[in-house]
Amino acid sequence: MAKPSNLRPETLAAQALGWIEPATRGVVPPIHLATTFERNEDYELTDGRSYIRPHNPTLEQPEALLATLEGGAAAALFASGNAAAVAVFQALAPGDHVVAPAVMYWGLRHWLVTEGRRWGLRVSLVDATDPKALAAAIEPGFTRLVWVETPANPDWGITDIAAAAELAHKAGARLAVDNTVATPVLTRPLALGADLVMHSATKYLNGHSDVLGGALVTAATDASWARILEIRATAGAMLGSFEAWLLLRGMRTLFLRVRAASASADRIARHFAAHPRLERVLYPGLPDHPGHGVARRQMAEGFGGMLSLRVKSGAPAALKLASRVQLWARATSLGGPESLIEHRRSVESADSPVSPDLLRLSVGLEDAGDLIADLEQALAGL
Ligand SMILES: *Cc1c(COP(=O)(O)O)cnc(C)c1O
Repeated sequence: MAKPSNLRPETLAAQALGWIEPATRGVVPPIHLATTFERNEDYELTDGRSYIRPHNPTLEQPEALLATLEGGAAAALFASGNAAAVAVFQALAPGDHVVAPAVMYWGLRHWLVTEGRRWGLRVSLVDATDPKALAAAIEPGFTRLVWVETPANPDWGITDIAAAAELAHKAGARLAVDNTVATPVLTRPLALGADLVMHSATKYLNGHSDVLGGALVTAATDASWARILEIRATAGAMLGSFEAWLLLRGMRTLFLRVRAASASADRIARHFAAHPRLERVLYPGLPDHPGHGVARRQMAEGFGGMLSLRVKSGAPAALKLASRVQLWARATSLGGPESLIEHRRSVESADSPVSPDLLRLSVGLEDAGDLIADLEQALAGL
């Protein structure tokens, strides 16, 4: 019997689209490791597959699930989040103009202002959370791509995706959104007018701190998408089979994990909002966050699992706080089951716009009370 067609995304994710392995009726897919696929006697391809670099069958199911969750026409998995993002920029031509946020995931901004510029892209970095600044930076007829990240690392600034899409489209540009932090559980950028969604699948999509991967999801399978797929196939930044298999397993619990992390982050942010040893708690769920109003409209049922603390007395106090926690791991990255604390300024390079008193927290799946108690004892020792 056919399954009902109006299933909620939670159901589709839990069942990985309900796919059953045809050979054994297994409810979990196999990991295909074959690098090459035999042709028939007429020298035709079987199911269109020739060689693993462009055609890895283990990627097909997680790509279909992610495309469904984001409401896109297709998805493509890459060897990392940065590989996915770079494919979007490489699909442009040297001389094209790109607008990106001044405050965004540092590793990608670093690529844009070094390799991206060397490759001939004209890159303008702006405060993307300010629609006026965004409008002023876009050059109609020359800007090909507007890139935004929301909530954005590491102050969780919120960009109004619908407004950014309108500004980009009016000028003949496309809008790409790094949706790593919000995930399709909290925000679906394509429904708000974006053309492309990018993920570091290393983070919430996989969710277990054991896969490096990236993804793109497109609103339309147009010529620009074909170019991106061509770049992936020829440059070869494909996700590996084992990673794709783990990623699908991780995505099955995406909704539970993101909702739990988001609820705990909200509780932690509220608990410490007025702490005497903190300058500021940065979390889009707090009413004093500059992006709170837009986040309430744009984010469904939560503001995400990421927040930052600005510690009074600057970098030495921030580093001391990080040194005193016992439960939070002092490590970079985000979106895993274990909570992480990170002094961003130490991780980014000298051109970092991040305040030196800032600690970035990735809230995991531990008990929120335990996480609060650990921060309390660490703050008490400052
Ligand atoms: C980690 C991250 C990236 C880069 O992804 P990798 O998988 O590390 O290459 C891009 N954007 C955001 C928001 C990230 O957190």
